[in-house]
Amino acid sequence: MKKNFPFLLLFILGVVACNPKAGSEPSAAGAQSSALSETAPKPDRIILMIGDGMGLTQITAGMLMNDNYLNLEEFPYIGLIKTRSSDNLVTDSAAGATAFSAGVKTYNGAIGVDPDKNPVPTILEIAAERGYSTGLVATSSITHATPASFFAHQPSRSMNEAIAKDMLQAPVDLFIGGGKDFFTKREDQANLVDSLKNSGFTFYESPFDIPSNAQGKIASLYADKQPISILDGRSDELLVQASQKAIENLGSKDQFFLMIEGSQIDWEGHGNNSEGIVAEMIDFDNTIGAVLEFAKEDGNTLVIVTADHETGGYSIVGEDEEGRLEGRFTTGGHTGDLIPVFAYGPGSEMFSGIYENTAIFDKMKSLLK
Ligand SMILES: [Zn+2]
Repeated sequence: MKKNFPFLLLFILGVVACNPKAGSEPSAAGAQSSALSETAPKPDRIILMIGDGMGLTQITAGMLMNDNYLNLEEFPYIGLIKTRSSDNLVTDSAAGATAFSAGVKTYNGAIGVDPDKNPVPTILEIAAERGYSTGLVATSSITHATPASFFAHQPSRSMNEAIAKDMLQAPVDLFIGGGKDFFTKREDQANLVDSLKNSGFTFYESPFDIPSNAQGKIASLYADKQPISILDGRSDELLVQASQKAIENLGSKDQFFLMIEGSQIDWEGHGNNSEGIVAEMIDFDNTIGAVLEFAKEDGNTLVIVTADHETGGYSIVGEDEEGRLEGRFTTGGHTGDLIPVFAYGPGSEMFSGIYENTAIFDKMKSLLK
């Protein structure tokens, strides 16, 4: 047998070389990922968590300033996404979120529309159609680029009042964010909060006012425009509690899709503020911890954590005498870095590897029941 081995090998190589189909077969990685999607158990609940502007250095900064630990370390599967938009090497949050929400590469500024400005169905809308309850939680205005891209379809992220109006038609069961003025102090004089109350929403001034296990459709617009930062006094319990209450409320139905955004990691990146990045990063990671705790107990929830892009071209170059991070920034804008993806729960193995940001949508869609 041993003596025949080289001949056997040559024979196999010959068969492969002579097979005209061999070169057109899908790559091993492609075949493996489609096999995974067919066999993977499907979760009842999907929670997508987006740390806006959260690159690897933002994560590292939060970890270093949090006793060298983040809840992100609990995730078994880690991948990387390519983030460029259809018209720019460096994406903005609108194109980045529309890639996640609708699976299309579109232009910077686009909210739930393709490069020709046609509306594209979002994962939230598709999930709702299949009987899931749906929710959005953010530390920005609910009309801001990231949350907007899941429920609205508008050619420009700056159209806050039009985006707010899209909420009237959107299949959203719960939303918690800022931006109340875009619903109540409008050019068209409409009061969209009244309209939403008429369609069954209960409004709460603050997410802290939402009772435990509140039933029915729920909304909280807890800031007139953009919520303040952690450094300026936003409670570090707000995002954690808003997310926990969202899970309790949506959990009254068996299946739900929930998007949670830590919106202001990005804004502190634009401000080139290391201390602010650390504060927003730890706030977001505390929320990740609370969500993971639910997912571990539940056993049937997929949690995905990622970001739309990195902000600031941030790097850590040392620490000062008080032990504070010394950061350096290469820009006041976004960068085109690869961005990490963390996944936990049924289907999480599908999220390892390197792929386009639009694949987040494809993978989530393939995991819907
Ligand atoms: Zn930004």
